Amino acid sequence: MNSHSSKTFDFDLFVIGAGSGGVRASRVAADLGARVAIAEERYFGGTCVNVGCVPKKLFSYAAHYADDWEDCRGFGWNPGQRQFDWPSLLANKDKEIARLNGIYRNILESRKIRIFNERARLVGPNVIEVGGERVSARYILLAVGGWPWKNPFPGNELAITSNEIFHLPALPESMLVYGGGYIATEFASILHGLGVEVALVYRGDKLLRGFDEDVREFITGEIGKRLQLELNREIAQIERADGGNLRVTLNSGATINVGEVLCATGRKPMTGDLGLENTGIRTSDNGAIEVDDRFETAEPGIFAVGDVISRVTLTPVALAEGQIVARRLFGGMDVRMDYEYIPSAVFCHPNIATVGRTEAEARSTGREYDVYLAKVRQLKHTLSGRDELSLIKLIVDCETERVIGLHMVGPDAGELAQGFAVAMNCGATKADFDRTIGIHPTLAEEFVTMRNRRKEHAARA
Ligand code: NDP
Repeated sequence: MNSHSSKTFDFDLFVIGAGSGGVRASRVAADLGARVAIAEERYFGGTCVNVGCVPKKLFSYAAHYADDWEDCRGFGWNPGQRQFDWPSLLANKDKEIARLNGIYRNILESRKIRIFNERARLVGPNVIEVGGERVSARYILLAVGGWPWKNPFPGNELAITSNEIFHLPALPESMLVYGGGYIATEFASILHGLGVEVALVYRGDKLLRGFDEDVREFITGEIGKRLQLELNREIAQIERADGGNLRVTLNSGATINVGEVLCATGRKPMTGDLGLENTGIRTSDNGAIEVDDRFETAEPGIFAVGDVISRVTLTPVALAEGQIVARRLFGGMDVRMDYEYIPSAVFCHPNIATVGRTEAEARSTGREYDVYLAKVRQLKHTLSGRDELSLIKLIVDCETERVIGLHMVGPDAGELAQGFAVAMNCGATKADFDRTIGIHPTLAEEFVTMRNRRKEHAARA
C-alpha cells in the first residue's frame, strides 16, 4: 500500500453502495492491502444483478424462444402448442440472482472487508454515519447508482418501473411501455415475446435517441413489424378502469386499455439523503455527482463512480471506473478511463450493438468519412420465412482509414461487436477489416466484405 495509508482512520477506504463499481473497487483495494468497509442497504450486486442486466437478459432469452417456436417450422419441426409459465421463469431467475448475491457477498467476506448492511451517510469529509455508528475513512467512494424516474403526469403512480417488472406476480395480457430508450425497447420486445400484447409509446419519431440515425430508423421499422408502436405520443394521464385494467390517455386524445403500464423514462442518480451537504461535493443539474478525470469529487478524498456520476451508465464502465480508483489510491497506478470505443448492446429484438461514433458524431468533427452500409437477410430466414433483415454499418475516417464507428442490428449483435471493439481499440483500419477472411456463412462476415462506399463530407449536414 502507498503512503496514503493511515492508522488514524478506522478504514483506508469506505465504499457506499455494493453494486458493480463499489464491489469492484472494494475488492481491488483490499487485494492491494487496504482496510476496506462497504455499506449496502439493499441488495448485493446493485441494479445490474438484481433489477437490470442479468435478469433482463434471462427474460430476453425466455422471449427469444417465441421466435424459435415460429422459425423452426421451416426446418421441418412441428413444435406443438405454445405454453409459457411466468411463475417458473420468475422462480428460476430468483434462484440465479440469489446465487449471484451470494457470490458478491463472498467476494467481500473472503477479503475481510467489513460489510454494513445499512444505509450510510456522509457526516463530514472523512466521517460516515452507518447503523448508528460513526466511522472514519481516509478515502470514501460513492457508488450508489441510480433509480428509475417517472416523468410527472396524472396517474403516474399507477405505472410500474423496471424495478417492479422483475417481480410482477402475474403477467398481464396487455401492457403499455412508455419511453424509447434502452429499457423501453428491451422490455417491449421481451414482453411481446412472452405473449403480452404490447403498445410502445414514445415521444420521438424514432426509437433510441443518441444511436446512429440509420440504426434508429431500422430498429423502429423492425420493432414496428412486431408490436403496436405509438410514435410522437406522450401519456396525458392514467386512470383505473373497470376490471382492474388501466386506461391510458395519450396526448392525441386516444385511449388504450391495458393490464399494466411500464414507465421507462430514464433513471436518475441516487444522491438523496447521502449527506452531500456536509461536504463540498457538487452535483450537476440532473443530480449527478461531479468528478474530475480521476473520479475525485470537489471534496478531496471523496470519489464517485458508476451511474451516480452519469457519464456512461453501463455496468462494465462502472467496473472499470471503480478499478481505476482503487488502483490509483492503493496501487500507485495512474490509469485514465478511456471512454472512446466503449461497445454497448441493446437487447431489444432484434439486438443492436454499437462501438465508437455514430454518423452524426463523425460529421460533427468536421472530418471526412466514408460510410459502408448493408441490409442483409440472414441465411436462417430463407427457410424460417421470417420477415426480418439485419443492418451492418461501418464509418471510416478518410484520412486515417480507421474504422471509427461500427453498428449492427441483428441476432447476437452484442456477442459479435465485442471482438470488433478490441480491433477498433487497437486502431483497426478498413484495410485491416478487408484483408480479414470471413467465416462463412455467418452474418459477421458481412463486416469484412463491405465494398460499397457512400462517401460523406462533413459539409453534408
Ligand atoms: P434512457 O435514457 O435510455 O431512455 C429514457 C427514455 O425516456 C427516452 O426515450 C426519453 O425520450 C424518454 N423520456 C425522458 N423523459 C421523458 C419525458 N418527460 N416524457 C416522455 N418521455 C421521456 O433511459 P432508460 O431508463 O431506458 O435506461 C437508463 C440507462 O440504463 C440507459 O441510458 C443505459 O445507460 C442503461 N441501460 C443499459 C442497458 C444495456 O446496456 N443493454 C439496458 C438498460 C439500461 P427522449 O429520447 O426523447 O429523450
